[in-house]
Amino acid sequence: MTKYLACAVLLACLTPAAIAGMTADSRRVAEVENIYADLNDAFSIITTIDSGLFTSYRGRDRAAWEQVYREKRREFSARAAKLPKHGLSENDAQALAAMRKQFATLSETVSPPFNPGGKCEDARRKGQDYQSLRKALLVCFTEHANNVSFEGGTINRQSALDLLHEIEEPERRKAVFMALAPLWQAINGNNEPDSPYRRMIALSAADGAKSGSEVDHAARDVGVNTADVERWLEQILDAWRQVSRDQPIEPWNFSYMGAEADRLLATAIPRESLQPVNERFYRDLGADLRQLGPLYDLDPRTAKAAVAYTDFVIHGRMAGGIWQPTIARVSATYARGGLFVLNELVHENGHVVNLTAIRNRPAFVDWPGDLFVEAFADVPSWSTYEPAWQRRYLGRETSEQISLRALYSVVVLDVAWSLFELRMLRAPGTDPNALWSEITSHYLHIVPHPELSWWALREQLVDTPGYMVNYGLGAVLTAEMRQHIRQSLGPFDTGDPRWYGWLQEHLLRYGSERDSRTLMQDFLGRPVSPQALLDQIHRLAPPAN
Ligand SMILES: [Zn+2]
Repeated sequence: MTKYLACAVLLACLTPAAIAGMTADSRRVAEVENIYADLNDAFSIITTIDSGLFTSYRGRDRAAWEQVYREKRREFSARAAKLPKHGLSENDAQALAAMRKQFATLSETVSPPFNPGGKCEDARRKGQDYQSLRKALLVCFTEHANNVSFEGGTINRQSALDLLHEIEEPERRKAVFMALAPLWQAINGNNEPDSPYRRMIALSAADGAKSGSEVDHAARDVGVNTADVERWLEQILDAWRQVSRDQPIEPWNFSYMGAEADRLLATAIPRESLQPVNERFYRDLGADLRQLGPLYDLDPRTAKAAVAYTDFVIHGRMAGGIWQPTIARVSATYARGGLFVLNELVHENGHVVNLTAIRNRPAFVDWPGDLFVEAFADVPSWSTYEPAWQRRYLGRETSEQISLRALYSVVVLDVAWSLFELRMLRAPGTDPNALWSEITSHYLHIVPHPELSWWALREQLVDTPGYMVNYGLGAVLTAEMRQHIRQSLGPFDTGDPRWYGWLQEHLLRYGSERDSRTLMQDFLGRPVSPQALLDQIHRLAPPAN
């Protein structure tokens, strides 16, 4: 039965007064929803101001927006409480639930993103609760990530990771790797059983036992259980093991070994080429970024967030029958160019087109689930590792083998982190250094260094424990989506002007209305499986040895 028919049948059973009552309810929900939209915008504008992108927006400074925020928050709370508990239409009820859930995350005052107000030294104090310890560790991470001492100067974490891909001399490579040691130590001390991280992961596991961990949520998002996810992650890592030589690799050499494509293409991707290449690719995909109007904050600046991210500034909505567009923003710290960075910029703009493609009522103009979001952003960004893409956008290419090895060496490291967190959350008493050594030596042939907490390189590990699975398992969804788009529209690595519109129609317009499982099931016409990703990894030739 279609929705329309269901309504007609239902309406026929109701008295005219009841019908009038229902529309009035819908109207009341819509009014509350407008307040919610204003509140949501005030929040995202304040966080943008706090990110340092601008100091005022649409004629108002932070204090003025904070006042709007407080008023709208009060107004929403009062008006939503008066909405009827029963008899709302299914869509209204879902919208109201979505708004209430989001409202619960909007604190009375807005604190700056990635700078939640704790102190790094608090992480060493025992007896901290989960939230405070996470906050303190996040501050530790940001401070150390922005202050890496190397060869007499200061660089940031991203630059250090970039250098690991590039430096020719093995000793200097080891030196830049070890320059990150103060960061790991701030997170995991000397790996003592009550190190800050080990206390935090125990609290995280206890928290997850109540309502499920991030890993459990991600599993549910694809319609499987956590044990299935573990098996998939193992299969992916095993595929990589099969196409890699079993020569032991020191951890400071792993990125370098994978990144031959990055080095070969380095001179083709200077810093100033990042945006023009990115814009050209999306224009070829039918998404004109200049028209979509995202705001970019890409230059290095002190006290900036340690990771690249994308978020709303303005949430799109209908006003007077016309769609007022979503405005997104991208924050990153790019001191240099290169393929790795370009891939990340294309990924962030994958988030941008995801947000700008949403066409829905205000309650649903929001991120779809984390797992889907990260996976979708990689759909366009994986193209940067295809020789055909490189030929068109860089004027130069590397071989398929070299390119794919660069891409999947990054993917499998994310998968390794996913498996690491899954197992840490299941058994939080585990020695993290021993577990990381075990995973990376077995599957990635990395020489074990249980004396080093070198896994502590990702901000997500302390900000949102379990979040890495959104990348690791996300790769499964990315490969599925890329395969399905190829089968439906044809290849898109060198552009296809139908791409954006088609994905908007089939996948992106719903915003947060549909869960990832429904989105993927409807898109693929079947449940998600790791096969597409395994097939991609097997494009790599097995080692000749
Ligand atoms: Zn992302």
